[in-house]
Amino acid sequence: RGDSRDFDREVQSVCPFCGVGCQVSLKIKGDRVTHVDGINGPANEGRLCVKGRFGFDYIHHPHRLTVPLIRRSDAPPKGLDVDPANPWTHFREANWQEALDLAANGLARLDATHGGQSVAGFGSAKCTNEEAYLFQKLIRQRFGHNNVDHCTRLCHASSVAALMENVGSAAVTATFNEIENADVAIVIGANPVENHPVAATFFKQFAKRGGKLIVMDPRGQALKRHATHMLQFRPGADVAMLNAIMATIVEEGLYDQQYIDAWTENWEAEKAHLAQFAPEKMAEHCGIPAETLRQVARDFATARAGMIFWGMGVSQHIHGTDNSRCLISLALMCGHVGRPGTGLHPLRGQNNVQGASDAGLIPMFLPDYQTVTDDAVRARFSEIWGSGDFSAQRGLTVTEILDAVHEGTIRGMYILGENPAMSDPDVTHAREALAKLDHLVVQDIFLTETANYADVILPAAAFYEKAGTVTNTNRQVQIARAAVRPPGQALPDWQITVELARRLGLDWQYTDPSEVYTEMARGMRSLDNITWDRLVNDGAVTYPSLSPSDPGQAIVFGDGFPRAEGRARFTPAAIIPPDEVPDSEFPMVMTTGRQLEHWHTGSMTRRSRVLDAVEPEANCSLHPATLRRLGVEAGGMVRLITRRGEITIMARADRAVAEDMVFVPFAYVEAAANVLTNPALDPYGKIPEFKFAAVRVEPAGVM
Ligand code: SF4
Repeated sequence: RGDSRDFDREVQSVCPFCGVGCQVSLKIKGDRVTHVDGINGPANEGRLCVKGRFGFDYIHHPHRLTVPLIRRSDAPPKGLDVDPANPWTHFREANWQEALDLAANGLARLDATHGGQSVAGFGSAKCTNEEAYLFQKLIRQRFGHNNVDHCTRLCHASSVAALMENVGSAAVTATFNEIENADVAIVIGANPVENHPVAATFFKQFAKRGGKLIVMDPRGQALKRHATHMLQFRPGADVAMLNAIMATIVEEGLYDQQYIDAWTENWEAEKAHLAQFAPEKMAEHCGIPAETLRQVARDFATARAGMIFWGMGVSQHIHGTDNSRCLISLALMCGHVGRPGTGLHPLRGQNNVQGASDAGLIPMFLPDYQTVTDDAVRARFSEIWGSGDFSAQRGLTVTEILDAVHEGTIRGMYILGENPAMSDPDVTHAREALAKLDHLVVQDIFLTETANYADVILPAAAFYEKAGTVTNTNRQVQIARAAVRPPGQALPDWQITVELARRLGLDWQYTDPSEVYTEMARGMRSLDNITWDRLVNDGAVTYPSLSPSDPGQAIVFGDGFPRAEGRARFTPAAIIPPDEVPDSEFPMVMTTGRQLEHWHTGSMTRRSRVLDAVEPEANCSLHPATLRRLGVEAGGMVRLITRRGEITIMARADRAVAEDMVFVPFAYVEAAANVLTNPALDPYGKIPEFKFAAVRVEPAGVM
């Protein structure tokens, strides 16, 4: 590290990237962060991955937005063509007063002309709980409806739908650190070594101690080396495989009847449903031998304590909710919930996707997943907010909002920290929607692809430049502290939203995030006993916390579930094929995801020196045999074509990918994976099928 060890102060905060929520010590010299160390947070116990340790310098990148920008009257038509280093052909500099007035007046004008429903908002899982709370409050209180959402719709919306339906709570039932008390753990549709790297270190230690680690993924992955079983099943065959495992448990009488009787409902229906899924019948469909399915069933069901972890390989399907229903049923039938070393744990993606969802940044729920359709719930929030009632109708989700823009019913948007021009499925459709808006206000730290389409751009503070709370995948509410000042005139997101709200006629008087937190906690029982001052003192508290001195419950639902009569539910799941199956024109399967070094749409990590140096170029992964068949050398270029569009991208040889598959990371604008993805939705979670699209792969020659 050389001179970078030289620093004159340190500030403790939370890593801005994944849902593990590692606590960090930021070392600062002058107004710059020089390096980052891990500290003893409840989730990371001093550890950090490459992103947390080296991915901090994006905050000092010259592309940072430092002044408000307004689209020039003589700007070219809206499109993806703005140079973030030289935006002056499209935008001009403005002062805060002018930019905020223009932003607010444009939204107010649409409300007056077309009604509140003509305005929608995308908030961000990259912002604090307070900022998420204020954002959803602004849309609901000022525009009177629930058309507000964020990227949870694109990651775990189907998991949330299944958990709410069958367990009565959207959060994990046990922290991932509980794996140290487990005998067996299933990791399915997740690649923690790349996407939740610090959590993966706990998983590896578990395996090293003799724990049985069962990895299930259509793509091979590094955790395989530590696994007792690696089930590389056919893409989209999740329900068939999980039902076959559960059918074995039923057939061989391995279920926990006592637990089922005490704490569940609908068991008989589930049991009858599973009779048709014997492993011998499902083996070919899944691509896994029947005996392996049976052995996995025995290992999981007969263990003293078992956990299930899952990621977006489970959730990002049109049958994502069914996938999660199966995982919930599997845990319930074995009694693997509510005790040490047991639990259901969807590994959350962004550093505050749990908190943003908890804070009500979703169209169907107010804070704490209280439904907008409940008159008493809306009355409670109207009372807290000192305002009138708002719509009892569930709002539109991320992709539905962009569809409504195409239909002309939504005409204005306020987008805070999201990048739908890169992150949405069939991104050409999303970009056309953004270009169509009468008025788009974008608030961000960089001139993102989405900001290309903005009328007003509001420069925001980066995560390490502001204070607030965030909630990680473990339900741990943690305090983030401002380490350095934002550049130029950039301001914390909460402050910008407050200024905008005031100009929209709301009497918001917040002067500090702690005031927002205190108001938010009034409407959220999950935050009982977790005060701002306590978080400042303790750094983190897990919810639920049963008393002011209780550090929080790492495991929940040992004594019943937050559902009618305290019982969880079995919901049988049928096999539903992917929306788009390969055919002679598009014969292969494309799946998308993240890479270790890059975060989501790349706006931060591609501006981070070390991370960009390690992984500088858009790439996809193909099996060496597939490359041979195509006549393409590893490192050569291929063209990927789906029904939505095509991209040209460098191909890597990777034996982890099946011969009929291609894996494409979605961080690279120059070869955007989401040009190709299928926007078909899971009917419950409204999550797109990012994990399965029919694709044709062709050699593209040297670029
Ligand atoms: Fe940050 Fe996640 Fe890495 Fe921890 S595991 S350092 S939270 S990216």
